[in-house]
Order: sequence, then C-alpha cells, then structure tokens
Amino acid sequence: MRNRRAALAATATAASLALALTACGQNSEGGSDDDKGGSDGATIGVAMPTKSSERWIADGANVVKELKGKGYETKLVYGEDDPDQQVSQIENMITQGVDALIVAAIDNKSLNNVMQQAKDADIPVISYDRLILGTENVDYYASFDNQKVGELQGGYIAEKLGLKDGKKGPFNIELFAGSNDDNNTRYFFNGAMSVLKPYMDKGQLVVRSKQTALNQVTTLRWDGGTAQKRMDDLLTSSYRSAKVDAVLSPYDGISIGILSSLKSDGYGSASKPMPIVTGQDAELASVKSIIAGEQTQTVYKDLRKLAKVASNMVEAALNDKKPEINDTKSYNNGTKVVPAYLLQPVSVDKSNYTTLIEDGTYSENDLK
Ligand code: BGC
Repeated sequence: MRNRRAALAATATAASLALALTACGQNSEGGSDDDKGGSDGATIGVAMPTKSSERWIADGANVVKELKGKGYETKLVYGEDDPDQQVSQIENMITQGVDALIVAAIDNKSLNNVMQQAKDADIPVISYDRLILGTENVDYYASFDNQKVGELQGGYIAEKLGLKDGKKGPFNIELFAGSNDDNNTRYFFNGAMSVLKPYMDKGQLVVRSKQTALNQVTTLRWDGGTAQKRMDDLLTSSYRSAKVDAVLSPYDGISIGILSSLKSDGYGSASKPMPIVTGQDAELASVKSIIAGEQTQTVYKDLRKLAKVASNMVEAALNDKKPEINDTKSYNNGTKVVPAYLLQPVSVDKSNYTTLIEDGTYSENDLK
C-alpha cells in the first residue's frame, strides 16, 4: 500500500519487522497482503478553490461523501480564490500527514513546490477538474472533456443562429473566456472557437470589438462582476448603433454578469431581444434564468460522477493499482502527459432542463 504509514514501514529500521510479518502473510499494518482496496483509516486531503461558486461547494461535499463511503477520513479546505492561501493549506495538510491529495487548483502554475513536498512525503496527488501544470508530481487527472464543453457552447450559438447553411448573417458576437491561470480556460475557448472561427472568417459572425484573442477576453478568477464591467465597456464602445446577437460565455457566473449588463442596456424587450448567452455548470441561478428566457444555454457536468472518478483514483493510487483511465494523450502539463479520466458534458437549454430534475440535481421546487 502506498501511503505514509506504508512508507514508514519500508524504512530500514522497520524492514526486519516488515519482513517477518510478510512471511506470515501480513503487511506491517496487520492487514492481509491481498487486501483489495481497503482504506486502512487513511486520511485524504481535499483542496477546493472557492466557495463563491455553487459548483465547488457541491464538489467538496460530493468528494467527501465518496471518500467516506470508502472508509477514508477527509480534510476539506477551500482556498477562497487566493493561490497563496491554497499553497499553505496544502502544505499544512502534508504536515498533518494526509495520505493522498485531491486538488482543484486556483492558479495551475503556483503548486510546483508544494507538489514536490507531496512527492517527497510519498503522497499521491489527483488533479481535480483543473490540471496542475509544470510538475511531474501529479499522478492522475479527473475531469470532463473540456474541449467538448467549448464545442457545445460554440456549436449551440452556430445552431441557434442557423449558420450552418452558410447563408445567414452577419450576426454580431462577443467572446468571453475564463481565468487565464486555469488550464481549462484555453480548452473551453479553443473548443468554442473551433466551431465559431470558420463563421467569423466567412463574415457570418462579426466581433465588432475586434477582441478575438484569448488574452483579450479572459476573466480573472471567473469573476461575474469583472465580466459585467467588460460587457458594459463593449456595449458602450461597439454597440451604440448595432445590437449584439450572441455572447460566448464560458461559465454561468460570468453569464449572469453579462446578462445584468445587457439588461441595464435595455436588452430583453420585444424590440431589443436578449442575445444568445451560453454558460457552464448548470448553477441554480442560471437554470432559473434559462427557464425565464434570459440566459439561453448552459453546459451541465455531473459532479457526482467526477467525485466517484477522483475517489477511485485515490483508492487505486494508495493500493498500487491502476485506476480506470480513458485518455492518455490530451493533457500534457508541460512536464508529462497526465493519465486522465474525462467525463462527458451535456448541453442544457429550455428544451431539456428537466433532465436536471430527472437525474436528481434539482427538485422541481428548487427551480420555481
Ligand atoms: C471549471 C468550470 C467552472 C470554472 C469556474 C473551471 O475550471 O471546469 O466548471 O465553471 O472553473 O469555476
């Protein structure tokens, strides 16, 4: 078993005892050698990025539930979107002797030193949802097909504007992306642009602001207020004599900010209808907004499944087994390709939001 107690048992001082126990079919912790996947009371540290978004609150709760179900103890911390705070939280968990770590990074490049500390303490690390970059000390990556998330957002806009036949347009679109320190951001953006760019090249889609490069459209820490301010500026600078028809938004919190800005500018009436606004995470406020005919779409990711994948990875890593992996090429973190299990995202709009009730994400009452 790969955990701190096992590592200690492997040191020279314990070697003879370990040998003796192994000889009688037991490991140094008194368990049977062919003990499959036991938790042995191990403690798993779970570092989540922020409580400012529903999704991460649900992630923390789901992961803890899964791990407890497997008999593990857990320590759950939230970094409040402050990279330094997250680093010290992880350092503390390593010092406290956790046996494995599940980490959803705030800044994907700020964790190299603390990942080395984890490695030195023989603590396996599962990168959760967001890939940790620039270190070989990440064992596995549990996430969604992030390129597909972007394709679903871009594809939705193309479909709703009827761009496929090549004749419709030109339509005005503005582009928003996520936080530049989150590795997922470029996957979402590139996925969406793989669909939208050909229509921009043909002139069916026009970005009046001319802000089309990723570094011009990112939103630090995915902040809705920041997005609202940028949308205000775009409307003032580029839409005094034109209307915006679509807004690519990567995340529901950003969509809500964009919608507030649009509403203050008079959008949402018969003469000035709301543009198509995408999103991600199927957060409650956004699903309600979709039902009310404001936000148009979101991308739903079943976080309960993600928690299962991550906790299975922990269990495998602690027992020197290989977890189920379905992607060994997409996620190079700059140092190595991290073996990943990617789940499938689903596009949700007014026509199919009831799937969220059917699968137990929300009750009918929640959505009233
Ligand atoms: C996640 C998204 C989320 C965003 C903002 C991304 O890393 O994959 O689901 O919307 O962070 O929290």
